Amino acid sequence: MAKIIDGKAYAEGLRGRMAKTVAGLKSKHGLTPGLAVVLVGEDPASKVYVANKAKQTVEVGMNSWEHKLDAATPEATLLALVEKLNTDPACHGILVQLPLPKHIDSDKVLSAINPDKDVDGFHVVNVGRLSTGQESLVPCTPVGSVMLAKDALGSLAGLEAVVIGRSNIVGKPVAQLLLAENCTVTIAHSKTKDLPAVVRRADLVIAAVGRAEMVKGDWLKPGACVIDVGINRIERDGKGKLVGDCDFASCEKVAGSITPVPGGVGPMTIACLLRNTVRAACAQKGIAIPEL
Ligand code: NDP
Repeated sequence: MAKIIDGKAYAEGLRGRMAKTVAGLKSKHGLTPGLAVVLVGEDPASKVYVANKAKQTVEVGMNSWEHKLDAATPEATLLALVEKLNTDPACHGILVQLPLPKHIDSDKVLSAINPDKDVDGFHVVNVGRLSTGQESLVPCTPVGSVMLAKDALGSLAGLEAVVIGRSNIVGKPVAQLLLAENCTVTIAHSKTKDLPAVVRRADLVIAAVGRAEMVKGDWLKPGACVIDVGINRIERDGKGKLVGDCDFASCEKVAGSITPVPGGVGPMTIACLLRNTVRAACAQKGIAIPEL
């Protein structure tokens, strides 16, 4: 049976290390990293995410600002707020919660964020920096996924890695990070032929598909490490349940290690957002970026 990779415990440890780093930045450099989160509208899931982000930001000792705007807010008003935050020296990280209402052009808003404050790592400048191997702010879920893989496997150098999914938010940045770790990387997607055969080559599988329990145990190479990014809500036995993109029951019998859903990659995302904020604050102040 596979070793279960405990993302909740790893994220707790990371937040603990971050709290110490933040205390050190305050005492040695008078620097308190600050994160501004902008929420437009009343999307219930987004409201929960934003509240969790704010709570955890404060818990590690950083400044947190929540800007809640009405769903009918004009695009120009949102852009003006982003510009104000871009020039606010106390604010080191800016996150505009997606999805935005339909009348707002998300690409335009994300492009307006100063890349050095872009703690979501979605700005094209950060995408370019990542793909050319420069210091950059990297999307949070991919960073968290690779941290968990390294925790389970140690060095990833030379491993065959298969990433299922090619979104800008998860699949592509995770593939870039694995390449930087010297994996041999295959990116699979909806047009991939014979996906089970492709997955069977992998020492490391990262599933970011959005299809409940799609990857089966008999697709895996015995002993493979499985990082399941998927979060899918299904009905089972008359109850709502969260499941990943991997069929946990069959995969855990074949894999060497596997992340559960919930409790795997999920908790890493906010922890990595806070990590990006600390890194952004240090870079903006010319302080050496802590390892974390
Ligand atoms: P997207 O819908 O943007 O991308 C899904 C990808 O999966 C696409 O590249 C698509 O291929 C591919 N795909 C779809 N169906 C198949 C199939 N049958 N076989 C192979 N590939 C397929 O999703 P995201 O990347 O945004 O999210 C993926 C999952 O991760 C979701 O479950 C999401 O909820 C979860 N997630 C979790 C986060 C967290 O833990 N905090 C954060 C972000 C996402 P194609 O490009 O060809 O269409």
